[in-house]
Formats: sequence, structure tokens, C-alpha cells
Amino acid sequence: MNNCEQFRELIEAYALGALDAEEHAALDAHLSSGCSDCTKAIEEARWVVSQLAYLAPQQAPSLTLKSRLMQSVRSEASVSRRPVLVFRPRTFWTWVGVAALIIVTLYSGWNALRLQEQARQARNSAAEAERGQQKLQQELALTEREVSILTDPASVRISLLPQNAQTPQLEARWHSQLGIVVTGQQVPVPGGSRVWQLWLIPKTPGAKPMPSLTVRPGPDGKFVLPVFTPPKLIAETKALAITDEPAGGSPQPTTIPRWVGGIS
Ligand SMILES: [Zn+2]
Repeated sequence: MNNCEQFRELIEAYALGALDAEEHAALDAHLSSGCSDCTKAIEEARWVVSQLAYLAPQQAPSLTLKSRLMQSVRSEASVSRRPVLVFRPRTFWTWVGVAALIIVTLYSGWNALRLQEQARQARNSAAEAERGQQKLQQELALTEREVSILTDPASVRISLLPQNAQTPQLEARWHSQLGIVVTGQQVPVPGGSRVWQLWLIPKTPGAKPMPSLTVRPGPDGKFVLPVFTPPKLIAETKALAITDEPAGGSPQPTTIPRWVGGIS
């Protein structure tokens, strides 16, 4: 029964009567051992052969045809009996195919890298755009706060008078919740990298001036100094003063005030 596989390949040739005596005898012996599978396969093959015979010209197949059939059946059988890798010599076209495959593979790899890089860049610019958007919103919020301080009727108006008659006056608005904004036009730019620094002079007698933020006017002389968290409450502050200080500001005034404004 275990021999069924090897007989399977002989069955068509058997039905065609194309087996040699030895194979024919072996298959006969197998069939007479009572293999129902092979018997059934023989019946099917005979039916196929009979159909072929019906379609064929009304002539017995010539010996040549019969031997050719037999040969093809046998070679089929021998190929399928030994399913071993057959090494054929590599032809020019095989190498062309291999080369094309390598090119396609390299291109796909390169393309994948390129797409990854594009995706990375897109993510970066999206993140950058988002950061820009956030920065813009923060700036907008600060500008809105600045505008609120400048326009809210609750803000206290403080005129900062210059020590020197040639220097324009500055004006401060102090909102008790939102902070201070000092503004001025055509304000001179301090020398080198020096800055104008704002001070809060406390009401407490003998208390030192409280340092606040610094600013350098623009080349057009526009002076805007927003201070959203003043170091003292307006109720505790007697006056605002501005001095000329080195870049970054000082912990206490190092020059005499250029502007002073009392809070009434
Ligand atoms: Zn069998």
C-alpha cells in the first residue's frame, strides 16, 4: 500500500498501454493486492483515454505516437519522482533579471528612506509651526494685557518727568491687577549696550528702591516697558524712577534718575 505514490505516476501510461513489461507487471501485482485507490485511478485514466480515443481520428494510434506518448509520460514521471533542485547554467537574461531585482530593491529602500525623511521634515515643520503659533498666541496675550493696562480707566496714570529739559517725558499706567506699562516717544538710546531700568520707590521711609525691568528703546526712539508683575503694590509705592544702567540691570541704582514720577 505504501507504494501507491510510485504507481500513481504510472497509471496514465498503464491506461494508455504504454508501460513496459516490468512496470506493467508491478502495477498489476499492486492492483491485485486489492488497492482500491489505484484501481479507482486506473478506471478514471481509462475513461480519459477512451474520451481521447473518441475525439481522435478513427484510427488506432500509430506506434510512433504511442511511443512519443509513452516517452513524455515517462519523463514527466521521472521528473516528479525526483523533486530535486535542478541547477541550470545562469544565462545572460537571468543576470539581467537579478540586476533588475537588485535595482528595484535598492530603489525601494532608497525611496522608503526618502519618504521617511520627508515625513520627518513634515513633522518638524508642523511642530515648528505649532511652536510659532504658541509663541504668537503668548505674544498676543501679552499685547492684549498691555493694551488693557493702557486703556482700562482703573489704571493709574503717572507722568515721569525728565531731569533734562531736552529729554521727552514718559508716561506710565499702573493697573492694580494687570501691572505697569511705561511708554514714551523719541526717547534717547543709552550708550553702548546700556539700558534704561525702572525702579519702584517704596513709601516706607528709608527703604531702598525696588529694581524692576530694563529696556532699550528702538532706533525710532519708541519706548515701551511692560511690567506685568511689579515688585511692589501700587499702594506701597511712592514713585517710579528710571536710571541708566549696564546691560541686564543693577540690584540698586548706579546713576541718578533720568525720569521720576510721583504716584498721587
Ligand atoms: Zn495503490
